[in-house]
Amino acid sequence: MKNKNVKDEKKEKKIGLTTKIFIALLLGAVFGIVLCYLIPDSKVKNDIIVEGILYVIGQGFIRLMKMLVVPLVFCSLVCGSMAIGDTKKLGTVGVRTLVFYLATTALAVTVALSVGNLINPGIGLDMSAIKTSASTVETMEATSLTDTILNIIPDNPINSLASGTMLQVIVFALIIGVILAKMGERAETVANFFSQFNDIMMEMTMMIMSLAPIGVFCLISRTFATIGFSAFVPLAKYMIAVLLALAIQCLGVYQILLKIFTGLNPIRFIKKFFPVMAFAFSTATSNATIPLSIETLSKKVGVSKKISSFTIPLGATINMDGTSIMQGVAVVFAAQAFGIHLSMADYITVIGTATLASVGTAGVPSVGLVTLTMVFNSVGLPVEAIGLIMGIDRILDMTRTAVNITGDAVCTTIVAHQNKALDKKVFYETE
Ligand code: ASP
Repeated sequence: MKNKNVKDEKKEKKIGLTTKIFIALLLGAVFGIVLCYLIPDSKVKNDIIVEGILYVIGQGFIRLMKMLVVPLVFCSLVCGSMAIGDTKKLGTVGVRTLVFYLATTALAVTVALSVGNLINPGIGLDMSAIKTSASTVETMEATSLTDTILNIIPDNPINSLASGTMLQVIVFALIIGVILAKMGERAETVANFFSQFNDIMMEMTMMIMSLAPIGVFCLISRTFATIGFSAFVPLAKYMIAVLLALAIQCLGVYQILLKIFTGLNPIRFIKKFFPVMAFAFSTATSNATIPLSIETLSKKVGVSKKISSFTIPLGATINMDGTSIMQGVAVVFAAQAFGIHLSMADYITVIGTATLASVGTAGVPSVGLVTLTMVFNSVGLPVEAIGLIMGIDRILDMTRTAVNITGDAVCTTIVAHQNKALDKKVFYETE
């Protein structure tokens, strides 16, 4: 009973925060528009309000989000790879699942970049007028292919952590996780340390996210105060682009893969899996859907729990196709808004980093926005654009979470089929 109350309270809190962020977005937009069009330029308006209070609080919030990235990704990856290493007995299942997870994510980013370039959400929005904090604009130096490959290996992992060189951080975390799993009881203390530290980082994320309404208000009002009405249409276009790319991935890419690899009827699959998607949508939390997903796959689709009890939690931790779609569209949006040209090499970098960011994104609300800073940094985009899209992110978070877990379920069904652990009778004989 007490447990239930706690859960209800949590739910209420979550709904409260979403509404608050949305209200902050609207109020911020109205305040910004008033500042832009109705208040004449003066020292108080320009220097104290817009470039003073709004700038400091907005930037402060972005800095808090950036503070999370390295420890959050590091701990979540150590724990994730510990889980993979742990189940090495599953052998080929593990490898196949990983290949499917990574390939579908890379495909998802590609879909997102294509849709983004088709809809051009950031064109018509000139954010270059907005002052960006010096530390966030990092231009990439051109490096040769050989150096790019070598740069993946950290020569000093502490340095990589300190400078936030994400690829190196990821490699180091993966190695530690695998070794921890291999050592088992001998390294139990350290393994516990990482999983507890992971919990701490989750808690910290929740805390910082509870400040989001204030951050969003300041970021949005400063944006609108600087550029006025011209921000509305691009934001709507960004939203449409993300939703369209999510729909293509969920209803197109996944269903084609399902049909090709298992021969199952995609429409029937979606019908059966829909309640899980609705649950993911309402909670915006992949992790929370793990039990329901395993149950549904077992009872309605015919996937053996032997497979799904490994692949579904793993997917909820490392396979976030919906999240990487949002990140792909956000990259196009920000590049266009800041008038930054992205080359083919930049796009390939985005596909790589967004795929890895998806691995490092925890299955709880809003973390996709945190790991987005990593994707932006990889191609030198200013993270200020995140402030703008944050206001409308919750609804996209809900939608992408539904896609995230559908991706896990489709890959699981395919892998189960390949390992003769899919009972098609269950699929066709149950409702
Ligand atoms: N909310 C997402 C999930 O749980 C993660 C994110 O994109 O923020 O799958």
